[in-house]
Amino acid sequence: MKRIIIIGGGITGLAAAHRLLELGKENARVFEVTLLEASSRLGGTIRTERRDEFLLEHGPDSFISEKPEALDLVNRLGLESQLIETNSEHRRSFIVRNGRLRPVPEGFHLLGPSRLWPFITSDIFSWTGKARMALDLLLPRGNTNQNIDESLAQFVRRRFGREALERMAQPMVAGIYTADPERLSLRATMPRFLEIERTDRSVILGMLKRAGTQNKAETNGTSGARYSLFLSFAGGMQTLVDELSLRLPPASVQLKAKVTSLQLDRSSGGWTVNTESGVSIRADAICIAIPTYAAAQLLQETDLNLSQGLKSISYASTATVNLAYHREDLPHSLDGFGFVVPFIEKRSLIACTFSSIKFPGRAPSEYVLLRAFVGGALQPDMFALDDVQTLQRVRADLRMLLGIEKAPLFNEVTRWPRSMPQYEIGHQDRVERIDNHLVQLPTLKLAGNAYRGAGIPDCVRSGEQAADALASLPQTRSR
Ligand SMILES: Cc1cc2nc3c(=O)[nH]c(=O)nc-3n(C[C@H](O)[C@H](O)[C@H](O)COP(=O)(O)OP(=O)(O)OC[C@H]3O[C@@H](n4cnc5c(N)ncnc54)[C@H](O)[C@@H]3O)c2cc1C
Repeated sequence: MKRIIIIGGGITGLAAAHRLLELGKENARVFEVTLLEASSRLGGTIRTERRDEFLLEHGPDSFISEKPEALDLVNRLGLESQLIETNSEHRRSFIVRNGRLRPVPEGFHLLGPSRLWPFITSDIFSWTGKARMALDLLLPRGNTNQNIDESLAQFVRRRFGREALERMAQPMVAGIYTADPERLSLRATMPRFLEIERTDRSVILGMLKRAGTQNKAETNGTSGARYSLFLSFAGGMQTLVDELSLRLPPASVQLKAKVTSLQLDRSSGGWTVNTESGVSIRADAICIAIPTYAAAQLLQETDLNLSQGLKSISYASTATVNLAYHREDLPHSLDGFGFVVPFIEKRSLIACTFSSIKFPGRAPSEYVLLRAFVGGALQPDMFALDDVQTLQRVRADLRMLLGIEKAPLFNEVTRWPRSMPQYEIGHQDRVERIDNHLVQLPTLKLAGNAYRGAGIPDCVRSGEQAADALASLPQTRSR
């Protein structure tokens, strides 16, 4: 029997453990799987809380179905009936300009418009800004050498100009990666736009062409994102975590079991995994599904170069603030799913989701649940504030932007320190170097949000691939 230890009980580690159990059943082979989680709960950054009749998401509030791995897992777990889509009304979002919320033009997806008229009539950009963006229609391709790793900011300035970067690309992308666009690798995060430039020269023309072939229902009447692709659960994202943990044999999960060091037996390829409480466990193979800075520490003695490669991936910190209100205390019509705030607006908020408008069942009908985001790579000073100061700053912004004078009925500040891996320029090369080191260590797999995608479907894929690889290893020589 192969003994496999998974370190980290976020969605990545859970998906890996679950996949091993599935593989065991499929192949009539048994793996002894142990999942070690440092904290007292499973799920990592996925955390849903029910408070009275409100449903609060402290971390992710949805996942996309476009990348199929999370949805596949949901189906295998029999959770389809609990899936919910975003509300069919108000499928749009806003961007703040000069202290006011303005709708993102319909059909505008992250960097460019896939419909022209809503873009032309939008008040997000000045006329000179729009004229500069339209130059994309005429500009030749940039240097399409695939070895050049351009930042998001360089790409957007080159194709659409500075205003498009400051007013649209920066806040939209900050809402997803909490990143600094000057450092964010376009190739590692949004290769689609590079591909469009390569094939169609003009990004706008390429997007118009693709919008023509896309299902109309996905684009019509929506702005900012293709909202039909976003899914959650009636009971919140925790549903996925809870179901996965139910599937694992209770004895296979150890909470409050922080791994503090690892030893590799180079002759057998086996590992000794040591936890904070002084327990040592032997394993034939391990999967490390924790942030890279934490993995780097564990692997320092096994492979210093690998450890340094892992350390070179940086992280940003972010906090979410859930706020509940009486509907009558909000003068704004809340006719959208939320807003993002450009950095040049000099506000404390990065973004705010109108949670109870975006998804059903988040608040009783006469109430509203909002969720603000602060911090990220561009505003680490905001993350450094204490909860009282954070709340003051968030409330000041909500007063200014949504006209909310009243105090919330309740609020919850949740901190996620060093939680968002930054896919900076050179990211893919860094990951490739890490992979090269791993070739020498076949009984070790690394998985998680820092390598090839940070969303939940990426994490599921990464965990499941690690499990597949470990399951297919030949038995190690006995130690
Ligand atoms: C505020 C926020 C909002 C987000 N929104 C979305 C969204 O809407 N949609 C989406 O797709 N993605 C979203 N993401 C990203 C997504 O949630 C994460 O990428 C994903 O949940 C990460 O899962 P993970 O298992 O790789 O890591 P984590 O969730 O970080 O889990 C790692 C686990 O390892 C444990 N651990 C750490 N060190 C050790 C150790 N030494 N020993 C044992 N255990 C250890 C930790 O306690 C933790 O439980 C969001 C992220 C954040 C922070």
